[in-house]
Parts: sequence; C-alpha cells; structure tokens
Amino acid sequence: MKAATEFDAIVIGAGSVGNPTAYFLAREGFRMLVLDELSSSGQGQNKAAIGGVRATHSDPAKIRLCQQSLEIFSHWKESTGTDIGWKKGGYCFPAFTEKVETTIKGLLPVQKKFRLNIDWLDAEGIQKVVTGISPDGLRGGTYSPDDGQVSPLLAAESFTREAVRLGAVYRYREPVKSLVLNGNAVVGVRTEKGEYRAPTVINASGVNATGLCQMAGLNIPILPDSHEGGISAPVQQFLDPLVVDLRPGPEGKTINFYFGQDANGQIIFCYTPKVPISGTNRNSTYEFMPIIAARLVEVIPRLKNLTIRRVWRGLYPMTPDGSPVVGKAPNVEGFVLGVGMCGQGFMLGPGVGLNLASLVAHGKPVVDREVFDLLSPARDLYAGKKEALK
Ligand SMILES: Cc1cc2nc3c(=O)[nH]c(=O)nc-3n(C[C@H](O)[C@H](O)[C@H](O)COP(=O)(O)OP(=O)(O)OC[C@H]3O[C@@H](n4cnc5c(N)ncnc54)[C@H](O)[C@@H]3O)c2cc1C
Repeated sequence: MKAATEFDAIVIGAGSVGNPTAYFLAREGFRMLVLDELSSSGQGQNKAAIGGVRATHSDPAKIRLCQQSLEIFSHWKESTGTDIGWKKGGYCFPAFTEKVETTIKGLLPVQKKFRLNIDWLDAEGIQKVVTGISPDGLRGGTYSPDDGQVSPLLAAESFTREAVRLGAVYRYREPVKSLVLNGNAVVGVRTEKGEYRAPTVINASGVNATGLCQMAGLNIPILPDSHEGGISAPVQQFLDPLVVDLRPGPEGKTINFYFGQDANGQIIFCYTPKVPISGTNRNSTYEFMPIIAARLVEVIPRLKNLTIRRVWRGLYPMTPDGSPVVGKAPNVEGFVLGVGMCGQGFMLGPGVGLNLASLVAHGKPVVDREVFDLLSPARDLYAGKKEALK
C-alpha cells in the first residue's frame, strides 16, 4: 500500500498535454497525481486554443501524433459518452496567390506519403466546400475532410473526469516549486504543501517548462509569444471546414490567420501578430479586432453581419525550431517531457499523451521510434529545419 504522497507517476500541468497523458497512464493502471497552479483543469493555454485539430502538417512526427489525436477525439463520445464538441468539418487552405498555391502544393507529397486524406481542389471545388468564400483571385486550395474541431474546455474537463474515474488525483492551486532529485534521477516534486514522490515525473507545464527543466540540469528553451483569438455569437451552421488563409495581411508576414464555425454555430478565429509579441502579457490589443474583422469579411463577405462576443490573448509555447519536445529527458532518469507545443498543443495533446504513456509504461512509443525521435529532447533545438506549418 502506497503512502498518500506516493504515486506511480506525477504530471506537472493539467493542460492540453498533461490531461491526456494522465488519462492514458491511469488507463495503464498507474496511480497518477496531476498538479496545476491554476484553479481547475485546462485553464492555462489550453483554453486559449480555438480547437482546430488536423493531421495535415509537413513534419512526419506531427502528422502521426495528430492522426492519433484525431482518432481519439473523433471516437471520444462513443468511448466515454461525453460530447466534447467534435465536428468533422475538415481543414481548407485556400490559395489566393501563386506563392500560397506553390507552398501548399509543395506539402502534398509528404502528406500523401502518410496517406492523409487531402487533395488540391480548383476554385470551383473550394467554393463548394467553403460556403460563401470570395471568388476574387481564388485559384483553388487544399481540403482535408477528415480533420476537425473540438472544444478545448470540454475536452480538458472530460479527460480529467475520465482520469479521476480511473483513480488519478488532481490537486489545483498547487504550483510545483522544485523537483526532488536523487543523483541524476528525478524522484518527485515539491510544492508549498509538501513533497510528492514517484519514479516518473512528466513535465507538461506549457510556457513554464524551461524553469522546471533547468532544475534537472536541462536547457530546453521554451519561448512564449502571444496570439489573439475571438468568438462570435452563434449563427446557423453554414461553414464546415476550418479555413487557413496564408496570405500576409496587415497583421503579419507569417501563416496564421484561421477561423471556423464550432459545433455550437459560433465563428471562432485567431491570427499571428505582425511582429511576434514575446513574453507572457495576456492583455488584448486594440489592433486585433479591426484587423481580424477586415480579414474575415475579405475571405467570406457574409461574415460582415457577425456579432463578436469575446476576444482573448494567449501564448504559444515556442521552440527555436518550431517543433515540440517530447520524450525522456537525456541523462536524467525518471524525467519525461511533453513541452514546446507551439501553436498546436491542443491537437497534439492526445497523441502526445498516448505515446508518452506507452513510453513510460512499456518503454516504447506507439508510433515508430524513428518518427517519435524527431521530437526528441536530445536533439539540437537550434539546428533543425523550421516546420512549414507551425
Ligand atoms: C489564440 C490561440 C489559438 C490557438 N489555437 C489552437 C488550435 O486551434 N489548435 C491547437 O492545437 N492549438 C492551438 N493553440 C495553441 C495551444 O493553445 C497550445 O499549444 C497548448 O495549449 C499548449 O499545451 P500545453 O499542455 O503545453 O500547455 P497548457 O495547456 O498551458 O498546460 C500547462 C499547464 O501547466 C500548468 N503549470 C505551469 N507551471 C506549473 C507549475 N510550476 N506547477 C503546476 N502547474 C503548472 C499551467 O497552469 C497549465 O494549466 C492556440 C493558442 C492561442 C493562443
């Protein structure tokens, strides 16, 4: 019989990655402890996400992990009885310029190699998929009908409930202040309320991950930058896919302006700001709404009648090479990382959790080792090629 402060594994962070990881380990029969500094589950960057879930990436590891996430999210209601807002509407990347057409067509061979259900459609085809899209300059686009959307808040709550049902213990408002070390092994954590012991400690602390890694002697730079999102009042369902417009708008040169209609009929949207805003300030800016409103109406003119309900600003836990850091920490026993999720931690969460649970419980990930190791914490984070669709 274990003492109340002894567990088989401890997860630091009840977020996009921590909750599924705790759930899958609890399913393996592990006695789990999850600690979070906030007052309930999914209240970190998880709740800033707009809930897009796609396997259509350019990096093989992200493709495989997100394929698994899609499998988990899309069958969640069947397996648990809980509706987490899954909507299989696909993703569409429309091309309004030659440059965007070349970029997205260039990704198709690797996406096809992984048997992703994605194709190039001509302008007419895209107009059928994205109701009301402006035909001005539209050249065509890619469409992947198996991708979709989920509510991040409902998902966090449901993963937590299922993990607790399997015996996991959640403690909120209890930040981890330090790691308990024994030689080169992590054997527990300390909070203001005391010490908890476990042979495995999983760092899933999102934008705070660097400090916890440093306590184990690891240099894993996670550099938060901020992004804004918003949501409208509900309107009748008309828009199936999440739409990603890669054209540089007044707000930026990079690729992230995307929006969709969630399962409740609300239009949900976000973009990457002009100059990356580093740091952890989460006050909304005054530029966001005017810019996003113009862009939404440019892509789908009928959106001019929307009522916006709420906006917010959240953080991407970025890495220097734009890819997550997932796996056993190098040269530190018992310390596992699921960090650096960049702009895709919500969609990666279940796939990362499933593989980390298998790694801890069975010594190997579910996906091919070669593919999994592309995200290895032992890689040189400054050497890699930048992910095309981060
Ligand atoms: C506007 C916007 C839109 C986005 N849209 C999408 C999207 O459509 N799809 C997608 O996949 N991603 C999206 N993202 C990105 C996504 O939100 C993040 O990548 C993801 O939430 C990161 O997951 P995480 O588990 O690493 O961090 P989090 O979900 O933040 O979880 C980390 C948890 O650790 C806790 N914690 C931190 N330090 C400690 C400590 N010392 N002790 C205890 N607890 C601690 C935090 O309180 C938090 O709950 C979006 C982000 C933004 C800002």
